[in-house]
Amino acid sequence: MVLMSNAQKKTDVILIGGGVMSATLGSLLKELAPEWEIKVFEKLAKPGEESSNEWNNAGTGHSALCELNYTSEKSDGSIDISKAIKINEQFQVSMQFWSYLVNNKLINNPQDFIMPLPHISMVQGEKNVVFLRKRFEALLNNPLFKGMEFSDNPEKLMEWIPLIMQERPANEPIAATKIDTGTDVNFGALTRMLFKHLKNKNVDINYKHSVDKINRTSDGSWELKVCNVDNGNIERHTAKFVFIGGGGGSLHLLQKSGIPEGKHIGGFPVSGIFMVCNNPEVVAQHHAKVYGKAKVGAPPMSVPHLDTRYIDNKKLLLFGPFAGFSPKFLKTGSIFDLVTSVKPNNTLTMLAAGAKEMSLTKYLIQQVMLSKEQRMEELREFIPNAKSEDWDLVKAGQRVQVIKDTAEGGKGTLQFGTEVITAADGSIAALLGASPGASTAVHVMLEIINKCFPQHLNEWEPKIKEMIPSYGVSLMENQELLHEIHTSTAETLGLSEKELVYG
Ligand SMILES: Cc1cc2nc3c(=O)[nH]c(=O)nc-3n(C[C@H](O)[C@H](O)[C@H](O)COP(=O)(O)OP(=O)(O)OC[C@H]3O[C@@H](n4cnc5c(N)ncnc54)[C@H](O)[C@@H]3O)c2cc1C
Repeated sequence: MVLMSNAQKKTDVILIGGGVMSATLGSLLKELAPEWEIKVFEKLAKPGEESSNEWNNAGTGHSALCELNYTSEKSDGSIDISKAIKINEQFQVSMQFWSYLVNNKLINNPQDFIMPLPHISMVQGEKNVVFLRKRFEALLNNPLFKGMEFSDNPEKLMEWIPLIMQERPANEPIAATKIDTGTDVNFGALTRMLFKHLKNKNVDINYKHSVDKINRTSDGSWELKVCNVDNGNIERHTAKFVFIGGGGGSLHLLQKSGIPEGKHIGGFPVSGIFMVCNNPEVVAQHHAKVYGKAKVGAPPMSVPHLDTRYIDNKKLLLFGPFAGFSPKFLKTGSIFDLVTSVKPNNTLTMLAAGAKEMSLTKYLIQQVMLSKEQRMEELREFIPNAKSEDWDLVKAGQRVQVIKDTAEGGKGTLQFGTEVITAADGSIAALLGASPGASTAVHVMLEIINKCFPQHLNEWEPKIKEMIPSYGVSLMENQELLHEIHTSTAETLGLSEKELVYG
C-alpha cells in the first residue's frame, strides 16, 4: 500500500541528485549560509553512482592542457585559445575550493581524489603536427600554460610515452606536447567525501528517494513529490530554492517544473565505453593522460585518450571513451527516456536536430556496432603492439547533450557544453549538459549562486574570496596571484609530490 504523507516538510534548499554538482553546491552553501536547512534526495542507494562515479567518467581534471578540442584553428590558420583560457581559469577555481576544504579539515586525504599526472597531446600525420606546433606556440607564453614542452623528436617521445612509441613505423610524422601540472581526478571519491562532509554538517541526505514531481506553490516555493524507493511511500517536501542536479535526469525534472526557461530544450544521450588494461606490465609502462585528435565527423567528447588512472588505490590504464547510443538518459535510466523527453514545446527543436545531426547519428550507430577487434584497431593507433587479451570493455556513463535553438546555429542545435537554466526569480536552477563537466563544478555552482541569490552576494563576497582568492579576477592577467595559487593548491592537494607508489 502506498502511504501519502500530508505533512508539508519545509526547508530552505533542496538538492536533487547525489552527484558532484549537488555535492559542490551544498558544500558552498554550507560555508556561505551555515544556518540554512538543506535536504538532498538521491534515487540510488549511495552518492556518486552515476556520471560522477570514477568508472563512468574519464577523471581528467579538464584545464585544456591536452584536450585539442578546446583550441580550434581559425580560417586564417591561427589558433583560437580563448576557450582553453576559460576552462583553465575555471579549473583553478575548483582547485582553490578543494584546497580550502582540505585546509579547513572539512575533507581529508586529497590524494584519495586528486593525483598529479602529466597531460600530453599526441598527433600523427604532417598536417596535425603543424597544428600541434602552432597550438603550442600560441600557448607557450601564456602563464596558465607555463611549462608546456613540444617535441617531434622520436627519442624524446620515447622518454615521454614509451608504450605509444614502441614498434611504431619510424617514417610516420608524430609530435606531442607535455605539461607536468595536469591531474587525474577521482570525481566519485570526491563526491563521496563531500557528501560525508555535508552529513557532518547536518544536511538531511535521503538516499533511495526519487523526485517524481515538482510544483510551484501559491507562496512561490516549490513542492516536491518524493517516492521512497524501498516501500513506495510518497512524501511531500517544500523549499524556497531547488537545485535540479539530476545529471541525465535533470531535463525531465526541469520539464516537470514547468518554468518557461525550460521550454524548447531537448536532450540527446551519448553513451560511452572504456577499454581497461588487465596486464600490470603494460600499465607500468605508461604514466600520463594522452589525448589525440578527434576524427573528422566525430563529436568532441569522443576524442580518444590513453589515461593512467588512480582508482581504488590502484594505478590503472584506460582507453576511450568510444561513443555509442542508448536511449537512456542515465545509466540506471529507462529506455523510454528519450521518447518521453519530447514534449509539444520541444518537438520542432528535436526534429530540426534530428535532420541536422544525421552524420552524428550515423557515427554513433557505427560506434555501437564496433566489435572488440575493431576497437583494438583504434587502440593500436596509440599502442601499436596492443594485445586483445590484455584489454577488457567497461560501460561508462551517459552524457545527455543539450539541444536548443540558438541565434548562430538555428533551430535544434546540439550543444556540447554545460547549460545552467534558472527561473527568472532564481527560485529553481537546473544543470544540463556534460562538458567540461565535473572539473568545472565549482565555477558552475558559483554561477548558480550568482544568478539565484543576488540579494546575498554583498554579504557573501568576503567568504567567497576567502574560499576562492581568484574570485572575480582573471588569473591570466594577474600572474602574481596565479603563481601564489598554483603553489599553494599544489602543496595543499599534494600535487607537487613525486608519484606515490601504487600496487
Ligand atoms: C564518459 C564520460 C566521460 C567524462 N569525462 C569527464 C572528465 O574526464 N572530466 C570531467 O570533469 N568530467 C567528465 N565527464 C562529465 C562528468 O562526469 C559530469 O559532468 C558530472 O559527473 C555530472 O555530475 P552531476 O552531479 O550533474 O550528475 P551525476 O553524477 O550523474 O548525478 C546525478 C544524480 O542524480 C540522481 N537523480 C537523477 N534523477 C533523479 C530523481 N528524479 N530523483 C532523485 N535523484 C535523481 C542520479 O541517480 C544521480 O546520482 C564525463 C562524463 C562521461 C559520461
